[in-house]
Parts: sequence; C-alpha cells; structure tokens
Amino acid sequence: MTSETGVETRSTCPYCGVGCGVLIARDGAGGITVRGDPDHPTNKGRLCSKGSALGETVGLETRILQPQIDGAPATWDSALDLVAQRFSDTVAQHGPDAVAFYVSGQLLTEDYYVANKLMKGFIGSANIDTNSRLCMASTVAGHKRAFGTDTVPGTYDDLEEADLIVLVGSNLAWCHPILYQRIMAARADHGTKLVVIDPRKTATSDGADLHLALRAGSDVALFNALLAQIDARGACDAQFTADHVDGVAQAITAAHLDDPTQTGLSPEDLTAFCDLWIGTPKVVTIFSQGVNQSSSGTDKVNAILNCHLATGRIGTPGAGPFSVTGQPNAMGGREVGGLANMLACHLDIENPDHRAAVGAFWDAPNLPSNPGLKAVEMFRAVADGRIKALWIIHSNPAVTMPDANAVAAAIAACPFTVVSDITAQTDTARLADVILPATAWSEKSGTVTNSDRMMSRQRAVQPAPGQARPDWHILAEVAARMGWAEAFDFASEADVFAEYAALSGVAAQFGRDFDISALAGISAQGYAELAPLRWPQSAQKQGGRFFGDGVFYHPGGKAKMLPVTMRAPAAQISAAYPFRLNTGRLRDQWHTMTRTALSSRLSAHMAEPFVDMHPDDAARLGLEPADLVQLSSLQGQAIVRLHITKDVAKGDLFVPIHWTGENAPSARVDALVADVVDPISGQPESKAAVVSAERFLPRWYGFAISSRSFTPDCAYWARARTTSGFRAELAGTDTIADWEAQARTLFDLPDARVQSLTDAKRGRHRLAFYDNEVLLAALYIAPQPVTLMRDFLVGLPGTEAAWALAGQARGDTPDPGPVVCSCFAVGRNTVRRAITQEGLTSVDRIGASLSAGTNCGSCKSELAAILREATSLAQQ
Ligand code: SF4
Repeated sequence: MTSETGVETRSTCPYCGVGCGVLIARDGAGGITVRGDPDHPTNKGRLCSKGSALGETVGLETRILQPQIDGAPATWDSALDLVAQRFSDTVAQHGPDAVAFYVSGQLLTEDYYVANKLMKGFIGSANIDTNSRLCMASTVAGHKRAFGTDTVPGTYDDLEEADLIVLVGSNLAWCHPILYQRIMAARADHGTKLVVIDPRKTATSDGADLHLALRAGSDVALFNALLAQIDARGACDAQFTADHVDGVAQAITAAHLDDPTQTGLSPEDLTAFCDLWIGTPKVVTIFSQGVNQSSSGTDKVNAILNCHLATGRIGTPGAGPFSVTGQPNAMGGREVGGLANMLACHLDIENPDHRAAVGAFWDAPNLPSNPGLKAVEMFRAVADGRIKALWIIHSNPAVTMPDANAVAAAIAACPFTVVSDITAQTDTARLADVILPATAWSEKSGTVTNSDRMMSRQRAVQPAPGQARPDWHILAEVAARMGWAEAFDFASEADVFAEYAALSGVAAQFGRDFDISALAGISAQGYAELAPLRWPQSAQKQGGRFFGDGVFYHPGGKAKMLPVTMRAPAAQISAAYPFRLNTGRLRDQWHTMTRTALSSRLSAHMAEPFVDMHPDDAARLGLEPADLVQLSSLQGQAIVRLHITKDVAKGDLFVPIHWTGENAPSARVDALVADVVDPISGQPESKAAVVSAERFLPRWYGFAISSRSFTPDCAYWARARTTSGFRAELAGTDTIADWEAQARTLFDLPDARVQSLTDAKRGRHRLAFYDNEVLLAALYIAPQPVTLMRDFLVGLPGTEAAWALAGQARGDTPDPGPVVCSCFAVGRNTVRRAITQEGLTSVDRIGASLSAGTNCGSCKSELAAILREATSLAQQ
C-alpha cells in the first residue's frame, strides 16, 4: 500500500543506526518530500544532511527494474526457477554448506527473518552472515561475554541524563549526527562534559573538553589504565560486584599488569581522563567502529564494559556503556539471527535445546548444529571453491570486504552468484549471474531496530517501480520453489512480523531477554499503525533499560568482567610499509554511494577521494598539496588526492571508505586492507592496515564537467554529481596526441561545436563543447594539478557560458569554494569572507548571515573550525 499525494506517512531514515523518524509525502511529480518526524522519540523532528536529502535519492535512473540472467532481461519466473534450481542442485551434490547468503544491515527485520529461516531452518546450513559483521560483531561478542546476551543496556535518553559522555572510536558528529546534536544540546543546557578518544582529530573532537589522540589499537591499554585507577582509588562498587559480577579480581589484576604507555598518551592526559571518569557517576561511554573494527575488537569492548561493571554504572539513568551501530537495521539483524553464529531471538545455535525449540516452531527438519562461516571466512570459502552458490542481498562486498580485490575475484569465479539489489550498477552486481530487482527504501514496508532497541516501522510511500519486489517476498518465492512453500506462505510483511514475535516468546521461555511476544498476535491494522517502541515488549517488561537491577543472562544471573590485555594491531609498521592507515565515513556519504551519490548537494561536500597526511610526512616525501598519492599494501594499491593536515598524527593516514569502481576505481580503499579478523567476533581490522605512500606522477591532470554522465578511461578518475550534471577529476599516464578527439569520445559528443585553447608547449588544453550557445561539457588539461574555480564551473553546463574556457568567473564574482553547508550550498570561501568582512564571531552569527548550519546542523562543527581558523589568522 502506498500513500496519496501530499499525505505524510511516518517512516524511518534508511541510513545510520540512529534510526530517525521521517515524514514522507509524494509530491505528485514522481518524487517525494521528506522531513523529520517531530513525534519520533529519537530525533524529535531533526534530520542530518543525509536524511534531509533523502528526497533527492529516489530517482529511477540507476535502478534495475527487471530480473537479469547473464546480463540479459529475464522474467521473474525464469530467474526464481534458476536460483532455486541451482541452490537445490548444489545442496544435493555438495551438501548444505556449499551454499551461502551474504545479507545486509540494510534489510528490514522481516527480510532478515525470512532469509535466516530459509538458510538455517530449511537449507540446513548456518552460512548466512551479514555485512554487519564489518560493523559491530565485536560488540555482539563483547556483550555476550560480559552480559550473557547481546543487549544495549541504556537508551538515548541517557545522553541527556549523563554528566559525562566519552566517545571511543566514534566520529559521532559525522557518523551519527543527530545523537551528536542531542549531546551538544545537553552540553549547552547543563554543561555535559565530553571526552573523545580517537587517534584522529575530527569534527567530533573539535567540540570536546578532552581529546585523547591515543595510538591506533591501544584502547584496551587505556581502559585497563582506567580500571586500575578505579581499583586503586577505591571506586569499585563493592556491593554491586559482589552481588552481580564474576571475574572481578582477575580483570583488575590484568588491568594493573597492562602498560598504559602503549597508548602514547601523556601521564597528565591519562590522569585527567581517569579523574573525570571516576569522579562522574553519571557517565555514558559510547563506542563505535574505532573499537569494533579491530583484531582485538572484542577485548576492547570488554575493557570498556569492565569499567562500567566494576563501578555498577550500568543500566541506570545517565550511566552505561553504549554501542552505536553503523547501519539502520544492524540491531534488527542481531535480534533476528542474521549473524552466522546465532539463531533467531538471541538463541544460540550450539545449544541443542534452543535448536530443538526453533526447529519445532518452524517445523524445520534441518537446523545446523554448528555456526556458519563469518563474512571473511565465507568469501575465503568462495575463493577456494567450498561455496559454489552465493546469494548477496543489498551489499557490495567486492568493494567493502577487506582484501577487496581478492573478494571480487572470488565472486567472479563462483559457479553461481545471485545479487538482489536496487541497482545493477555496483562492483558486485556486475559480477553476478542473476540480478534480482528489489524494492528500495521508499517502496518497502517492515520494521527496523535502532541502536537503543527502538523498533520503528518503515512504510512504503511509493509504488514498486517496474518489476521490483520486496526482499522477503523474493526469498519466500525461492523457498517455495525449493519445496518449502507451506513454511514460507507469508501473505504480507505483517504476517512475517507476527511469526517472528511469536518465536521471541519461545526464546523467552529459555530466559532470553529479546522478547516481543506481546506483539505476537498483532493484526494487520495494528502492524500498519505500530508506533515506535523499544524492546522488550512482553507481559513482564516494556522497553526501559537493562541490568540496572543486577540481572544478567549468564547461567547464575551474573555478569562477567573479562581479564584483557592490549594486543597491537596485527599488521606491523615496517620500512616497506611505514604508514598506519585508518579508514572511515564522511559526513554526507553513505557506504558505497549507491543512493547518496544521486544527490548533487551531498556530493558537493567532498567530491573526490583523498588521503589525510601529516605535513611532516608530506614534506619528507616531497609531496605538495593536491598531488595524487599512490598507496600500496601487500594486498593492493589505491590512488587518491593528497590532503595535508595535522588532523592525523605523523605516520598515520586516513582515507574514506565510500568510493567504488563506479565512481573512482583507483580509490577502493578496502583493496589495501588485509583480511585479518578478531579471533572471537570475526570482525575485520579495517582501521589499522599498513601501507606505503609515494607521489603518483601522471603525464597530465584534468578536470571535466558535463551536463550528462560520462565514464573516463585513465589511470585516475573520480566522478561526482553536480547541480548541472557531473564533474570529474582526471589524471593519465598515456600520451594523448589529439585532445579534441579524446574529449569528444569522453563526452560522447562527436559533432558538437567546440571552442578550444591550446598551449601545446606547456601541455595545457582547454575544450568546451556547445549546443548553439549552451555549454554541454568542458575539459581542462594541464601537466600539474589544474587550478580552476571548480565550484563555480560545476554550475555552468546547461547554461550559456561563453567564457567557460577561462576556468573562472567573470569579473569579480567570488569563488564560493567547496561546499560546507549542503542544505544551503554555502561554500568554505563564502564563510571565510563573511567572517572577515562582517566580523562574525560565532556559528550562530554565521547562520544568521548565510543560513549555513541552520537546517540540519550537520556542518556546525566545520563552521566552528573555519571560524577558529579565520580568527587565529586575523590575530597573527
Ligand atoms: Fe538518518 Fe542522519 Fe538520522 Fe542517521 S542521523 S538516521 S543518517 S537522519
């Protein structure tokens, strides 16, 4: 069911794990409008830059609208028959462990439930794992070791209740912006202190009371230092630990034995942190990918949990450890058994009683008794031929897995690969034998769970385009064709949800905490109207916090503190690979950009992949600003633009994760990352690769703009959408004899009128193509990085821009510079000028003058940084 034009429908943002509520309306012209839902408890009407731009990302130009077999259009029947046949044949010939599903935190809970039921209940293998393995598997493992269950103790309300918030390995301002804004509001209201623990200076650390730029991977040593101080200062909660926690003495002994100097932090900073943490009972420690994506990620999580358990600061208002997930339904996947080592509803695959109960509930004959292959193991098994049929659903592992080149090669060589996605234009879909067109966010209906256990409805507001179908339906159709029609005879996603809720009641009989059995009998109407609610939802308990009452889920009901000791990242710095490579997200992009790259304003924030490098390292390597840099590791290479900054320490580098073969083939950063994993969680170490860096010296550099998309063919290119079409940075190693011919081929403009400006001796060429007086495309070539007024030029295609060859604005039109505020398209130079010319002294005054930062607020920390920089320059 979809909504009428103009009628607002409540739904949920499909990006990060914050889980903001949105109000969506069809605009009557095929599009939608989106605003924050003022009644959703998570965001209370706010949206970040990505959420605000959702309406710009629902176009159909990159969608796949019909099934494809071997690249040719096919009917649903033929595609589903083929998938079912190949999976059945593979199971019959090689056993159930010869097939696998690789699913995604983008799936709705209902999709996840059906995929998990099919693989674990009926195919008879546990080879279903999710890309959430790359996101928060270490938290799952750490929670289970400490609490006996994978449960986030607190709620977002704790962010307002706390007196101190500690962010570990989390650039919250960019990656979970609405939570950051809630913290900033609490800070303004009642002075909440903020500590940021991150090797990198970020938009989040900019606003902190204390930034601990510890050495990469040394979080365990830091939290062991804190635990040792908690003990030394008599700050343990003796009653709480005696009654409710095992392993206290062993964990404290291990903490005293660990060496805090491994953090690289000064004794003064360590003391300041311990003083603040120990002296503030209402403390929330938020942790994210910087903790999880590590070969010691599980130990890092437990080092944090140890401190909260030792002090009894858990599950009470304003106190507790708090994992924030990356994806919109990473939590739903954890609850529904989307990980290879779990059954549904927090039941354990290796527990025979749990297996028997789930088997009986599903009437499923084939439940496996052992965990399946976790993501990295799964793709190794694809590579060595153990897995012969693979179904990848809403994920892009050919880009995002560590050792991505090897993973892409494995997928390409797999005898049978199916991809379900909304687009065929991904590195992974291009390798598939069968592509199944799935419905996208605004067309899908189901539920998601955010980082504080809030279950929210996602509702369809647009009809499914072409032949696209919901994922749960596609999976159920394949299951029926494999012979299990009755078990997968779901009439709707409401039907799926009702079964899932009933199964949680079975889990509750084993004392598991994930219990939504109060929703088991939910009607279609009740499901349609379901308001956001936090689990559990049972006869005994509705929402709220966990563990404040000292009740945990290990046998005996106690928590466990774990003795942990710091382990350095697996890859060692060496003469051959002297840099430590950190990876992460940008403010305005999401994962591999299949949706956010459709928005020109999101693409304007950072239009090109880059590497952050300390000025001393750049000087030592003889690198200049805007050079291209080749990064190399044992696994692969990448070429990215140099950004010289003191935000990273000497010897450290940072590269964003978002670019793919679709928009910058040389900048797939996971091609550099080794497939080293945490031994317990199986989560890859994505933030501590070792690489070398050197200048990439092309023969020529270029910049191109066009009203239509174009795909360059040169050593380096990075393409982004603009308000008037597309832009691309280029660099090549070939000698080009005829630049006009080259440009005509690039833009596919064989006959357009051309204006050109050539200085062959200096290797400079400028060409602009017109339809009458309207600029279609332009190309600027030079032997050095091309100096142009880019942020002005990108607006020219489609206009009568007779002066395009000049590469800059006419007269005294100022250069706006790269976009800082995506909502109002305000550039960095514009902000700088306003600060200087108008004497602006605060972010609020910048907002009053330019509107920048006054809508979603995601750019406020960058505005503050520009203000600081401009103020300090003025004082010099
Ligand atoms: Fe979406 Fe932004 Fe909210 Fe995350 S913080 S759910 S990306 S609006």
